[in-house]
Amino acid sequence: MSNNLETGRQLSPFIKTIRLMDGNLMILDSFNSKMYKLSGEYADNIEKSILNNDLSKCPQYLTLDNELCAESMDLLYKDYLKSCNFLQLIILPTEGCNFRCTYCYENHENKKMLPETKESIINFVEKNISKYTALRIEWFGGEPLCNISDVNELSQNLIQICKKNKKPYYASMTTNGYLLDVETFRQMFLKNKILRFQITLDGVKETHDLN
Ligand code: SF4
Repeated sequence: MSNNLETGRQLSPFIKTIRLMDGNLMILDSFNSKMYKLSGEYADNIEKSILNNDLSKCPQYLTLDNELCAESMDLLYKDYLKSCNFLQLIILPTEGCNFRCTYCYENHENKKMLPETKESIINFVEKNISKYTALRIEWFGGEPLCNISDVNELSQNLIQICKKNKKPYYASMTTNGYLLDVETFRQMFLKNKILRFQITLDGVKETHDLN
């Protein structure tokens, strides 16, 4: 601990460590979007140093000085504030899903969107987009890729509205990934401008398949 006080460094609050089933140590750095995999005695020592809060043996990428930490927090907060002026919609094109995770709270009704629901979304965006700096769509479900046709139809309409109003369009999707083959990915990425996919995995293959 005294070492930390002397150096003015602390463990970065963006660092998380995970022990994998094969014994390796995975380190996630959510601020810099980086992952490190450490093994053997080196991994044990790093883990011990973190647990004992003795950062003298930790590599630099795990620590931040107080000033840098405050700056990073500030940067994230500014990003957050900027995003507050986006028109953000979370759209569930279906509650249906091709998986049956044990913890799922959905009732998996395989209903698709009603035409009037799609029309209401389009009208709402058309009417309100001028008050915002951008449109951000999050595709969610159920499994959104179980209803690709409505994702396609709505994406095309919303992209057009943004073009007409000269507003940036951002889209992301939370998916279990099973239906995200190369062709579907190309379609979602290139045509529907879905630039970010959050793929839900319950750990390694064995634990994922248990659910
Ligand atoms: S993938 Fe998601 S929506 Fe599908 S069953 Fe699992 S938790 Fe539910």
